[in-house]
Amino acid sequence: MDFKQTLYKRLAKYAGVDTKSDEAAKTYPSSKGQLVLGRMLAAELKTIGVKNVKLDKYGYVTGTIAATAKGKTPVIGFLAHLDTAPDASGKNVKPRLHKKYAGGNIHISKKLGVILTPKDCPELLKCKGQDLVTASGDTLLGADNKAGLAIIMTAAEHLIKHREIKHGAIRIAFTPDEEVGRGVKYFNVKKFGADVAYTFDGDVAGTIEEETFNADGVKIDIKGKSVHPGTAKDALANAARIAADIVAAWPENRLPETTEKRDGFIMFTDIKAEIEKAGISGIVREHDLGKLKKLEKHLEAIVAEKRVKYPLAEIKLEFKEQYRNMGRVMAKHPGAMANLVAAVKKAGLAPHIKPVRGGTDGARLSFMGLPTPNVFTGGYNYHGRYEWISLDGMNKSAEVLLNLVQEWANPKN
Ligand SMILES: [Zn+2]
Repeated sequence: MDFKQTLYKRLAKYAGVDTKSDEAAKTYPSSKGQLVLGRMLAAELKTIGVKNVKLDKYGYVTGTIAATAKGKTPVIGFLAHLDTAPDASGKNVKPRLHKKYAGGNIHISKKLGVILTPKDCPELLKCKGQDLVTASGDTLLGADNKAGLAIIMTAAEHLIKHREIKHGAIRIAFTPDEEVGRGVKYFNVKKFGADVAYTFDGDVAGTIEEETFNADGVKIDIKGKSVHPGTAKDALANAARIAADIVAAWPENRLPETTEKRDGFIMFTDIKAEIEKAGISGIVREHDLGKLKKLEKHLEAIVAEKRVKYPLAEIKLEFKEQYRNMGRVMAKHPGAMANLVAAVKKAGLAPHIKPVRGGTDGARLSFMGLPTPNVFTGGYNYHGRYEWISLDGMNKSAEVLLNLVQEWANPKN
């Protein structure tokens, strides 16, 4: 099946709407462009024959494709987000098509000196001979996650045209504000009515994700004691220096900049300090919950040591749960990944199951009762000017979606 041309047209059309989300906005969605694209998508869903299409006041676009299979089959949801990252401009995005990538450097913009090289991005070499899309130098491309929108739309159109493909009921949702961490804030899981769902928001072809970090926040408050420095001996507790001492005591091999893959870390994100008081904020991240607790115990031990070292100061330490690894939910719904793995294999790819070093909307949805693994779209280098996506990868992603609905309609489930 070759949807490449259709996928490219859709990606280019959606990329043309500036949907950059805005962390500081008080509105939902956080930017007007998202509603503009939402209206466009709702109209297009209706045109291709999706039923029950709705765009609500929060900017969620939803729709239904009726079952073609007889008997009871689970309802499957497909999701993609329509905003782009605040990290780079999303205005006047002009996609550039680089046909049959030969393996060298790609000049995204000669004028601006934006050159994509296999040295900086080895994933490129897996896409030799494929058609790649980039932006043109001063914006991101927005394939994260407009490729997901294009893939779901194109696969939906194919399913509606080919009623002979047997599948259960399908629910579609395009959601705002994923990039500012509020993607599913008002999402009504019950109303959506799916038994299992998939976000099409991953990277290079073959990659699927069922795990995220476990995430806690950490806060350390230090109360010092100010005394004139001339008479400070054995009487001063300098909160600012104690804060620095605690941060410096954390092992260097347990930081985001020194870890990868399955290694967890603590990152200190903010220190506000003076002599009388200091506050340290940070984040704790680990795929394994037991190991997360160990990292926290380690920090507790450091703080306990500093309490002994600085008896005149008062040091408080507090952890707060942020989100949990969705792998825990997925373990209770083995079909979600089993069918996905089968669908990827049927598309002729080797499934690469990778733990996400972060959170996803799917993780939040999973804990809201809707198990939601993440599927590749074929792109990479998201959130900046070097973003690229393979049309061949997008095509495979659409194929995976089509295989997936058939896997779920298969009586073995
Ligand atoms: Zn994304």
